[in-house]
Amino acid sequence: MKALVVRGSRNLFTLRTDEGETECRIKGKILKAVEGYYNPLAPGDIVEVEEGQIIGLEKRRNGFARFNQKGQSPQLLAANVDIVLCVTTPVSPPFRPRFLDRILLQADYAGIPAALVINKYDLADEDPDTEERLEDFIRIGIPVFRVSARTGMGLEEFRDFIKGKFSVLVGQSGVGKSSLVKTLIPDLEIRTGALNEKYNRGNHTTTQPVLLDVPGLAGARIIDTPGIRRFAPERIPPEDVILYMKEFAPLAGKCSYGLSCSHETEPGCKIMEAVHAGVIHEDRYESFLRIKDEMAGVEAYPDYD
Ligand code: GDP
Repeated sequence: MKALVVRGSRNLFTLRTDEGETECRIKGKILKAVEGYYNPLAPGDIVEVEEGQIIGLEKRRNGFARFNQKGQSPQLLAANVDIVLCVTTPVSPPFRPRFLDRILLQADYAGIPAALVINKYDLADEDPDTEERLEDFIRIGIPVFRVSARTGMGLEEFRDFIKGKFSVLVGQSGVGKSSLVKTLIPDLEIRTGALNEKYNRGNHTTTQPVLLDVPGLAGARIIDTPGIRRFAPERIPPEDVILYMKEFAPLAGKCSYGLSCSHETEPGCKIMEAVHAGVIHEDRYESFLRIKDEMAGVEAYPDYD
């Protein structure tokens, strides 16, 4: 019998079958370290169940993961999704484009489209720098939704966008991810933690990714993930970072030094030319260099977000 993974960790998973929800363990060690992830299964996975045990995993369409703090294989947060929704804020906590760039890189690496959801827009002071960055994300093809879970602003368009889709929601703690989920699923019991003023961070309300159905949106589903302070993408070779940044990728290998170009000093560097021509935003270029350094080094969570 086929079943959908709703939540779970290590070896106990909540599954949805035709007969309802059930808790199952993986039989023996058959799924250990499958496909190089630290955790064998994530919400969104389709598994085969026999006699109350998970005996197999259907091939994943994709997987959204993050670097695992333990320095081993990456942690899989969601499987088989249509879109990564990165929830962020213009203020409180402050706008963090470097954080967004790292989520976008991970989404691209996983082969999943991404969109930005800028919550708490009721508080936005329309800072020109933030607005300019948002407009640049739109220019490079990333949908941007300016919303407010509090006032309802922009939510209709956002709901329309996720209609029928299977999304994974990621974001820093305190950006209002739980509040947003609550507007989508009004009858869901989610504790909305008050923003911790001292540290300007929210309380953790979700401790592990969970799959939720969104009513009234043509079968839309979301995977809510725990609020995070920092996001480190999976480790990829530094020279490959260029391949996973939308507006950079078409220029890969075109520099006079080819793939070995550091994109920092070389004459005839197409990336630097594109920055000068305004095809690549200076800030995205800065993110690119930093992510490249991050991938080259051992530091998992560099101090720049
Ligand atoms: P999470 O940590 O991302 O799940 O964030 P929460 O949903 O717990 O929200 C953190 C704080 O921000 C709470 O005090 C919410 O009431 C507040 N908040 C959430 N959404 C909005 C919004 O759209 N506008 C404003 N002004 N506050 C919001």
